Amino acid sequence: MFSFINKIIEKRKLLKEISLIKERIDTTNIVFITGAGISIESGIAPFRGKNGIYTKNPELGFKLRPDSFKTDPQFLYDFHEEFKRDLLEKKPNSVHEIIAKHGHVVITQNIDDLHEKAGSDFVLHLHGEVNEYRCQSCGNAPVKGDFLFHDSCDCGASLRHNVVLFKESVLHIEKAQRIIKKASLLIQIGTSGKVYPAANLAVQADFSITVNPELPDNSHLFNYNLVGNPKEILKLLLDEDVIK
Ligand SMILES: [Zn+2]
Repeated sequence: MFSFINKIIEKRKLLKEISLIKERIDTTNIVFITGAGISIESGIAPFRGKNGIYTKNPELGFKLRPDSFKTDPQFLYDFHEEFKRDLLEKKPNSVHEIIAKHGHVVITQNIDDLHEKAGSDFVLHLHGEVNEYRCQSCGNAPVKGDFLFHDSCDCGASLRHNVVLFKESVLHIEKAQRIIKKASLLIQIGTSGKVYPAANLAVQADFSITVNPELPDNSHLFNYNLVGNPKEILKLLLDEDVIK
């Protein structure tokens, strides 16, 4: 009973906080930073955290590294091909859809294509995209589509999935910083804020909010931290008719 009352009090506090924030935000140019948390409901397991791919199979963390291109390239190829195949039947959920409706730019740590499937036009994939491939050696731009394990680039080097592995640098970070500087509002959603440099992007924002089931590790960088169900919070925050 006590926890039930507590929940009601918490919910009221959250609703009050959201209505206060709604008075302060400028929604003309919203930029989202998203992480694995938003794809879980669509059936894509996160790499880290509870039920994460690495948590269940810590050995994978050691194999999904650039060294494996030398020691076990077939493993890297097969792992990402399986991820791609699984992705074919995955659908975006309502969080992806709300983001597509309101976000001018999405900066994501996810390698899946659910933002694109939901209709987001401009998605910056900091950790690459599993549906793309590129050369392991030259700087040719990544290509969308499939490749075979033994296929090679025009330059003769082997190809790889365009996915950032452990110890590799993230992509587009400077572009992401520039985009966030111009945003009227930054919303970070579905990420624990543990993975840098993405976790630090919020320092560029004028006004920023996190939306997550738990307080993220980088919460101190934001103006507001909304803790609860991301779908409900986003609806309340962005669909003007819900709260007056
Ligand atoms: Zn090449």
